[in-house]
Amino acid sequence: MTFDTDRLPLVVPDIDDVTAPYWAGAARGELLVPWCAAGHHFWIPRSFCPDHPEAAVTPAQVSGLAVIYSFTVIHNGEGQFAPAAPYVLAYVELDEGPRVMTNIVDCEERELRIGLPVEVVFHGDDGSWAIPRFRPQDGSSR
Ligand SMILES: [Zn+2]
Repeated sequence: MTFDTDRLPLVVPDIDDVTAPYWAGAARGELLVPWCAAGHHFWIPRSFCPDHPEAAVTPAQVSGLAVIYSFTVIHNGEGQFAPAAPYVLAYVELDEGPRVMTNIVDCEERELRIGLPVEVVFHGDDGSWAIPRFRPQDGSSR
């Protein structure tokens, strides 16, 4: 079976002052990740680095390339996700280091494996926001 993009709901994000730059980036088709002035990216967006609370933090665009770190196929989703089941919930490890919880889309079930190269895609509504999700990189395993 195929895990299609259009099965997943477009959940309106909860945008606040800290997360606004990241959602604005996603609406432009850019994956932004917090950059700590001590020299590394981290996830999730917040106003301080969990390892270096004194260091400056700025949103930084990353490649959008990653590999699947872990995944599961959800057969009994809750709330808005109930009609979407089965779907894939995964952690992907960005090329820049952080691990991000996301959905894997545009993917055949037989393709799914830890270590699969994936790339970000943005699913949005009206251009004002979009949700980053990940799909297999072209030619990775098809
Ligand atoms: Zn840091």
